[in-house]
Amino acid sequence: MRTDLLVIGGGVVGAGIARDAAMRGVNTLLVEQADFASGTSSRSSRLLHGGIRYLAQGKLPLVLEASREKCLLRQVSPHLAEPLPFLFPTYKRTMWPRWKLAVGVRIYDLLCGRQNFGRSSHLSADGLRQVLPAVELSDSTGAVRYFDGFTNDARLVLDTLASAAKHGADIHNYTRFKAAVRTATGWRVTLECTRTGASRELTCTGIINATGVWSPQLAQSDVKIRPTKGVHLVVCRARLEVPEAVVVTDDSRVLFAIPWGDRTILGTTDTDYDGPLDDPACDANDLAYILEHVNRYFPHANLTADDVLSTWAGLRPLVADPNGKPSDISRKHEIRIAQPGWWDVTGGKLTTYRLIAEQAVDRAVKKLGLDAGACRTSEPLIDGAPAEVPYSGCRPPALSKAVVEHFVRNEWAVHLTDIMIRRSSWTHYLEAPEEAAEKVAVWMGKLLGWDAEHLASELGHYQIWRARSRACIDQAAESRIGGTPLHGATQAGIVPAIPQGASL
Ligand SMILES: Cc1cc2nc3c(=O)[nH]c(=O)nc-3n(C[C@H](O)[C@H](O)[C@H](O)COP(=O)(O)OP(=O)(O)OC[C@H]3O[C@@H](n4cnc5c(N)ncnc54)[C@H](O)[C@@H]3O)c2cc1C
Repeated sequence: MRTDLLVIGGGVVGAGIARDAAMRGVNTLLVEQADFASGTSSRSSRLLHGGIRYLAQGKLPLVLEASREKCLLRQVSPHLAEPLPFLFPTYKRTMWPRWKLAVGVRIYDLLCGRQNFGRSSHLSADGLRQVLPAVELSDSTGAVRYFDGFTNDARLVLDTLASAAKHGADIHNYTRFKAAVRTATGWRVTLECTRTGASRELTCTGIINATGVWSPQLAQSDVKIRPTKGVHLVVCRARLEVPEAVVVTDDSRVLFAIPWGDRTILGTTDTDYDGPLDDPACDANDLAYILEHVNRYFPHANLTADDVLSTWAGLRPLVADPNGKPSDISRKHEIRIAQPGWWDVTGGKLTTYRLIAEQAVDRAVKKLGLDAGACRTSEPLIDGAPAEVPYSGCRPPALSKAVVEHFVRNEWAVHLTDIMIRRSSWTHYLEAPEEAAEKVAVWMGKLLGWDAEHLASELGHYQIWRARSRACIDQAAESRIGGTPLHGATQAGIVPAIPQGASL
């Protein structure tokens, strides 16, 4: 088998590259070692954002680039780009005075060239009380309101891949890139099916490595990554009612409370990480850190570990100075030619994935001399109105056999976790995800011909995954971290270390 371009990695960057290349008429193959979006791209804060924090650091070009992309993604994927207002409460004697933020958010709007998801404004302390009565108001000077977009990271990957496939890309999950040998006309590549262990070979003209935090593990790669971990908690919206997203800070650290249908998402941390890359988890320190800061802003909510329904943790693939603070590391992306015919594409963020892909494909087709058209990825991901894709959106679809059938038939789902975690987000959203998983397993089993043993093993894997993502909750509840006020717990030494920074 021969292809022009091999894309390694089925996260948002690889998906964007495959779509871009296929739309230009390039013969493209994408391989993902596990499920699509199972790396960082299903573990983000789900924001399309310019990066208001970088504005404070004076990184104007970075904010401008991401602001343009966030607005463009609204046209490309309107069903995955909902306007999200953010309230940033301000207080006396902090490093975030209201006047400074008011200027900042106005610049933020300007950088979107009048295309932002909404117009920024500022509120008095009384105004803040009316919109957000639960927030801490002593010493309040009011708030500023600015706009970003809310998305669904894994859906963005899947819909991008579906569009890539529609334009002719060959897309495979559970297929690992094992090795590549340089030939006179390109590369001879060995791939392995991670479900059966079977190997196969192919030849290709060029390779783009889009494996995120795994990039340095590929022999040809020239990337050095400093992974940092960020975690999110999901609580019931009734326990923390936020009509708009709320920015929670502790001096330079920035966290969010984000409304998500019946749930509220809280996050994130930003800590150096040197553990295994597959499936990082939230630990009791992460959980305590987030609850402590959220409780400072919403003391009456008094959230405890018992309120946490679900968690996820992700690793940022940052190309970084090993000595800098995690939250100071640039989110800029890098596209490097590591060897003739091999590009490493790393860093950046969800918001800029389309642009990263455009730049990477521009370089590759030029250097490889491929017959390719101009970039067309500002065209919509899905033909027709978003109403025609009820299974894809920022909130999970209702649980039904028809949706499961759609995921199996049209979206490469082969395992229970593929559907419960990434295609639907049901595991993070539903009140009784274990019961839902049993139904989904039966429906999948019928479609995929599972016998009783296979079905039990799928359920077993899902339960292990779920237990792992909830281990910190049980651990925190056991050590009564959640039962006592969290800042008290920290002072008493129950929570050993506060993470070093937090940001997107
Ligand atoms: C906590 C957190 C919050 C974030 N929040 C935001 C946000 O709100 N907005 C935003 O814009 N950005 C955000 N980001 C950043 C964004 O999520 C990432 O930049 C983006 O998802 C990275 O995508 P990727 O495709 O480079 O990597 P990944 O999604 O990790 O994809 C790489 C893929 O390569 C696969 N792979 C590895 N080795 C091989 C191999 N040998 N063969 C085949 N496949 C292989 C992996 O399995 C993986 O699926 C956040 C990041 C984190 C960690």
